[in-house]
Amino acid sequence: GDLRPLPMPHMEIRKLSLAGGQTTIIEDKPLGFYLFKLASPLAPHGRVNLDFDINYQNVGFVNSNPHVNLTFNGTFLNDRYLPYIGYAPDIELTEDGTRHRHGLNTVKRLPKLDDMAARNDNSQTTAADWINFEATVSTSPDQIAIMPGYLQNEWTDNGRRYFHYKMDAPILDLYSLNSARYAVRRDKWKDVNLEVYYQPGHEFDIDHMLQGMKLSLDYCSTNFSPFQFHQLRIIEFPRYQMFAESLANTIPFSESIGFLTYVDPKKPDNIDLPLYVTAHETAHQWWGHQVISANVEGQTSIIETLAQYSALMIMKHYYGEQGIRKFLKFELDRYLRGRAQERNEEEPLYKVDTNQGYIHYNKGAVVMYALQDYIGEDKVNQALAAFTKRYQFQGPPYPVSTDLISYLKQVTPPEYRYLYDDLWENITLYDNRTSSATYIQLPDGKYKVHLVIEGRKVRSDGKGQEHEIPVHDWIDVGVRDSSGKFLYLQKQKIDQKHVEVDVTVNGVPARAGIDPLDKLIDRNPEDNVVSVEKK
Ligand SMILES: [Zn+2]
Repeated sequence: GDLRPLPMPHMEIRKLSLAGGQTTIIEDKPLGFYLFKLASPLAPHGRVNLDFDINYQNVGFVNSNPHVNLTFNGTFLNDRYLPYIGYAPDIELTEDGTRHRHGLNTVKRLPKLDDMAARNDNSQTTAADWINFEATVSTSPDQIAIMPGYLQNEWTDNGRRYFHYKMDAPILDLYSLNSARYAVRRDKWKDVNLEVYYQPGHEFDIDHMLQGMKLSLDYCSTNFSPFQFHQLRIIEFPRYQMFAESLANTIPFSESIGFLTYVDPKKPDNIDLPLYVTAHETAHQWWGHQVISANVEGQTSIIETLAQYSALMIMKHYYGEQGIRKFLKFELDRYLRGRAQERNEEEPLYKVDTNQGYIHYNKGAVVMYALQDYIGEDKVNQALAAFTKRYQFQGPPYPVSTDLISYLKQVTPPEYRYLYDDLWENITLYDNRTSSATYIQLPDGKYKVHLVIEGRKVRSDGKGQEHEIPVHDWIDVGVRDSSGKFLYLQKQKIDQKHVEVDVTVNGVPARAGIDPLDKLIDRNPEDNVVSVEKK
């Protein structure tokens, strides 16, 4: 949370010159911020070349905050190492308390949803729309350097190893540069070359990660639109940083969440991170690289929530309806924990702020899972395919969360449209419970189960102030036998706080209750289901 010189330490600008000349108006070396006046004005759609030569160097060891992107073996740089145009809000201090200590105003939130001018910027880079990309990079002779695009040529010159990459279609103005002593595993999905660049010795999860790429390519291309590249690469980087990200045909991936991750099959709560993360990042080739949201609030409810939804559906098909439960529990727990730790204000999903991962990842996953449960996975995907068709590879104005919601609403039966109000546009929490469940055996050998259910639903504001709202919801009611198999599972309209439900089942009932699979955001799911007593 401290203020440090930006963009990077040990930066030496050797050259930064615009063709035609420039006059320096501002030169803020510690912050790396420069303002130049051109010798002659640049016409709209005009071009001017910027020549630059910037040197970064790691000198010895430091006491704290070591610079870990540029390393001996495992360099991982992003586009922020090259000059960029305009103000960079993504490197502002984001936490209100820290800003206050530095005498800054409360953080400026993203532009509002209805800010039409802001819709002309995409959420990834405000400096450009879709760009042509080509790069030549050199590295140590025993390393491979990787950037987005397809390798055109490779050569050695003067003790350096050179790589020339070029993309054959416009991409967003985002790129990465990885360099290390990589080994490469190659595979194929249809005509697409799959490659994993890894540290020798880190083979443990590679097959599983390749499987994640294939499952995700299959799922997204079948349900949304064709894959746009003929190559997709995962590139390992050191565990100094713990994330993965998706650039065009390129997925830098930390060794800490794949490669070496052991998923213990005996631990039922263990999440298969290598598969889940790979599926998520591969899905970003659609959500973020085919469809890109506008730079307004709620932008990540398109990019991140849909990548998370895609990954969750892939897990559902891979692990089955039962195996998916732990993923949903993981997401629900993270959401509830995240909102408890919120230091600014919780936003509803459709206005989520970019740093509220507990909303766009975790709540988003729970919400989209519920939605496909209510209206059907095929209907959700039909809406997402139409949404993709409308916006893929489009320039400004870019789509916003309410555009996505309107596509989803079109495939949603009227009786379920309240879900968008609850799940997307407000912060809605449930506290459903079952007070009692009893059964009697009927003369025909069947069993009649009598349930006493309480439906409770609250709305919360951004600061956590809650008020109760009436329940008019379709909610699962379930009865299981002693082996855990459902004898009955149906959505019932719960439109009073106190409801009594009778269902007839074929086997001896053991446990029964409301929302037994925790599909809703229920803070206390333990009391949803009770033992069924014989009357
Ligand atoms: Zn993501």
